[in-house]
Amino acid sequence: MDDNRKVVIVGAGFVGTSLAYSLLNQGTVDELVLVDINKDKTIGEEMDLSDGLPYSPHKMNIKAGSYKDCKNADIVVITAGLNQKPGQSRLELAVENAKIIKDITKNVMENNFKGIFIVATNPVDLMSYVVLKSSGLPKSRVIGSGTVLDTARLRYLIAEYLEVSSKNVHAYILGEHGDSSLVPWEHCYIGCKKMTDIMEESNLPMEDLKKIHDKVWNAAYEIIEKKKATYYGIGMALNRLIKAIFNDENAILTVSTYQEGEYNQEGIYIGVPAIINRQGVKDILKLKLNKRDQEKFNHSCEIMKENIKKSIEDLL
Ligand code: NAD
Repeated sequence: MDDNRKVVIVGAGFVGTSLAYSLLNQGTVDELVLVDINKDKTIGEEMDLSDGLPYSPHKMNIKAGSYKDCKNADIVVITAGLNQKPGQSRLELAVENAKIIKDITKNVMENNFKGIFIVATNPVDLMSYVVLKSSGLPKSRVIGSGTVLDTARLRYLIAEYLEVSSKNVHAYILGEHGDSSLVPWEHCYIGCKKMTDIMEESNLPMEDLKKIHDKVWNAAYEIIEKKKATYYGIGMALNRLIKAIFNDENAILTVSTYQEGEYNQEGIYIGVPAIINRQGVKDILKLKLNKRDQEKFNHSCEIMKENIKKSIEDLL
């Protein structure tokens, strides 16, 4: 990577433009290119976003572009494709979105892309698998946004519940970015104290933990019911991921990454805590899950394996 931090966003819809707005507000990149089948939309977005430049913290070049821009891009973020309708699960989008994602990956790679893919399109664990297989890139350079948003929601809700800063909540959502996700509560810390110890000492009912996870689980459905789509949260989460890459942070974020036995699972993408730096995924943080959590994690992985067979294998 040279000094010019260049990001291409493929898919200038709600999620793509929320990411663009977040990058602009936080001055995360030097060059931002928007690509979409709807070319007019990218031109409109370029104009609208550029109007904010005099008030942004960093000089930035924003343009409506094409796949040719991927040649010297550091990061391509895929946010294109169908989103959930009210009541629809993410997995129901698999077949249609897999075709779109395969096509996009091909277009990016044909332009000699040498950077890192970040995938946000749902079902994100399956779509990341599609990008890995159709790009031929090493697994470190194909990152799914995974449970990075779910984890942010979890930290926010725990922070509200215990009245502490969300920055001091160290808790992770693992597994599918979807209905089979899990929280390994034994590994949840407030500062350096176990959350379950705090609950016990404060006589707080342990059933509340399930209620917190249920709220996270239900959040996307509720938001989609009320406003049709979710986008600000994921826009901020993707921005955080991009910063971790450009700043070579070695930050721990719960992304979707390819499994090779780290959690006794292999051959799928799934959300686990991973160390993110300029190379992409540097390593996976291996938590010792208790029997019950490992079973839940295995269940989530089985769903991924079934769906790869059912919706994706034939396409690749
Ligand atoms: P949207 O409909 O607003 O935007 C999708 C965009 O993709 C549109 O502008 C469309 O023209 C474009 N597009 C479609 N096919 C394309 C192709 N072949 N090439 C280029 N562009 C193409 O949808 P949205 O709300 O922005 O959601 C996008 C995706 O992000 C959905 O799959 C949604 O489920 C997902 N999402 C993921 C998370 C997460 O946490 N990972 C959160 C929210 C939404």
